[in-house]
Amino acid sequence: MVKISNLGYPRLGENREWKKLIESYWAGKVSQEELQAQAKELRLAFLKKQADAGLDLIPVGDFSLYDHILDLSVQFGVIPKRFSDEYIDLDLYFAIARGNQDNVASSMKKWFNTNYHYIVPEWSGVQPHLTNTRLLDLYLEAREVIGDKAKPVITGPITYVALSSEVSDFTAAVKKLLPLYKRVFTELVEAGATYIQVDEPIFVTDEGDDLLEAAKSVYSYFAKEVPEAKLIFQTYFETLIDAKELSHLPVAAFGLDFVHGLEENLEAVDAGYFADKEVFAGVVDGRNVWASDFVKTSELLANLQAKVGNFVIQPSCSLLHVPVTTKNETELEPVLKNGLAFADEKLQEIQLLSQHVEGKPSEAYAKHVADFNALQAADFRNVTLENLDDVVTERVDYKVRRQVQQDKLDLPILPTTTIGSFPQSPEVRRTRLTWKRGDISDAEYENFIQSEIARWIKIQEDLDIDVLVHGEFERVDMVEFFGQKLAGFTTTAYGWVQSYGSRAVKPPIIYGDVKHIQPLTVKETVYAQSLTDRPVKGMLTGPITITNWSFERSDISRADLFNQIGLAIKDEIKLLEDVGIAIIQVDEAALREGLPLRKSKQQAYLDDAVHAFHIATSSVKDETQIHTHMCYSKFSEIIDSIRALDADVISIETSRSHGDVIESFETAVYPLGIGLGVYDIHSPRVPTKEEVIANIERPLRQLSLEQFWVNPDCGLKTRREPETISALEILVAATKEVRAKYGK
Ligand code: GLN
Ligand code: ZN
Repeated sequence: MVKISNLGYPRLGENREWKKLIESYWAGKVSQEELQAQAKELRLAFLKKQADAGLDLIPVGDFSLYDHILDLSVQFGVIPKRFSDEYIDLDLYFAIARGNQDNVASSMKKWFNTNYHYIVPEWSGVQPHLTNTRLLDLYLEAREVIGDKAKPVITGPITYVALSSEVSDFTAAVKKLLPLYKRVFTELVEAGATYIQVDEPIFVTDEGDDLLEAAKSVYSYFAKEVPEAKLIFQTYFETLIDAKELSHLPVAAFGLDFVHGLEENLEAVDAGYFADKEVFAGVVDGRNVWASDFVKTSELLANLQAKVGNFVIQPSCSLLHVPVTTKNETELEPVLKNGLAFADEKLQEIQLLSQHVEGKPSEAYAKHVADFNALQAADFRNVTLENLDDVVTERVDYKVRRQVQQDKLDLPILPTTTIGSFPQSPEVRRTRLTWKRGDISDAEYENFIQSEIARWIKIQEDLDIDVLVHGEFERVDMVEFFGQKLAGFTTTAYGWVQSYGSRAVKPPIIYGDVKHIQPLTVKETVYAQSLTDRPVKGMLTGPITITNWSFERSDISRADLFNQIGLAIKDEIKLLEDVGIAIIQVDEAALREGLPLRKSKQQAYLDDAVHAFHIATSSVKDETQIHTHMCYSKFSEIIDSIRALDADVISIETSRSHGDVIESFETAVYPLGIGLGVYDIHSPRVPTKEEVIANIERPLRQLSLEQFWVNPDCGLKTRREPETISALEILVAATKEVRAKYGK
């Protein structure tokens, strides 16, 4: 029997029980004992579920009360110096993640190219030492329930240090950890652990190329010091950076991704690098929500069977990145629902695949194939892409546009604006909820939204802001909102995935032909514009961001999907233009985060992204001003593509890293309109006028007075109203002072 394994299971629970539990603890509603007891119950239930799915190896230690990297940091005593490590307890653990009265939290970062965020270990001044026996405890606990199917999971030392901050000497840092890992492995082996999964995903990134020597020395050390430990060198999200070299590591097995790194990992297999090795083959996509194509997958497995020493079937990565189960999605059309696979369904797929490899036909396998085919054959899967040759993808020279736009809009120098959303007060949220429950009518809800818009148009006029927005009160989320109104998208009832800590998101699923079938934003925008003589900016989300924050189709190319959504946004822009909206912002908040892990694949992605943005935005009249917004600041590597978007104005987040950003945006490189956020909206703190003036003046050394815009650095949705108004007052006052100083 071909063995089957899993790399990690979602923490959230079918009904987000995990999230609710942790938040109740934070709110003081359950005690620490209660939290631990209920967490244990969840953990064991997850293990049992996986055992019932017939898995031979079940991950242990992937469960966490916040984040697995933070778990490791605390176990290794890599605790930021500002937190006293005298009492290492649960409250310290949460404080590092969330901050407390005295200390700011550690920062978080995206886990590779996923939307999961881990807590960045801070090394400055720490002496790593073991502070607990977490993994052993969890292993012993798991053994009671699932016996020796329990497979401890730990992030490997090289990846752990590579993801850390404040590491002055990489090799020295890794060296300090080795005896700790040795101890952990030894204890596990003594307790009966067979395999130990050591996650080293850094070896699928370009950075991994410089770490090959480190890998050799680290894994030779383990082989020598704990020879009984059967380590799986586990990678995912891409192909190995250097399979030839890495395949010589003295480990028991290699975990490879045959979904996202398919071609190159197969080449490595074909080259015979793994001919006498054990391979944990990730053949079921752990990143998307679609049922596997069994015909393709079983071909792949047959191929592997011929070419590697021995293999185990598993998902391509931890199932942390997909929702728990489709079983409660009662609202979905059956043909769609049956073509979906969340975590539990993926585990079932693995079992079916293993039986199939053994030549055991089963009804369930046949049904799966039939369901898969039915979905592909469904009418809604047909892509009817408008002929792209007929779509304008280039605008006249920006200098020409700038003049016509200026003549039309007649804005002062250093125009002021905001990024789109205003505070979603408790009243806004409450009213939306009562409407969703059906307690108030559509008309009542719309009236309420209109009154909020009107209130905020007045506030913006009183503040003397130049380019106004309607405030986005009708949207919970900038992607979900569009997903609900475009054809080809659907939303699930329980399709949550963890984003960071207890925070979960429910991405829409793009399942069919994407089309603009109704106005998306016209009503609110037109209403706002009817209340004022100042320009109101239309507010849309761009094709790349919509794709990156959705579960996308995997049966068509990404470029086709970008283009389809680009066309839909083009249609909306046309509607806005036709009713007289002169400025339209197309947010691309997630453009950068979709960047492929490997440099060699990045340019193609960026070119596709730029093209789709052009499809969406180039058909407008010269006088229509296109804005875009991005909420991150590491632009230097992608500045050419940002320029290529050719948006008349870009606003970006900068407040937390002002200097760096300005450098990448010198006039020479970036001649178009640009607003570098002049204050940080992520904190309730109201900036001083002097700070804001400095944040306007500093970039003016590199950028011209004619191109600079003044705005906060992101949407204001999460802020409270009083602090928002005070901050905007200061923003306008500061701008006026700078205008008076430089003005002509
Ligand atoms: N227009 C959106 C808003 O203001 C942009 C949000 C974002 O960049 N994440 O909320
Ligand atoms: Zn933003």
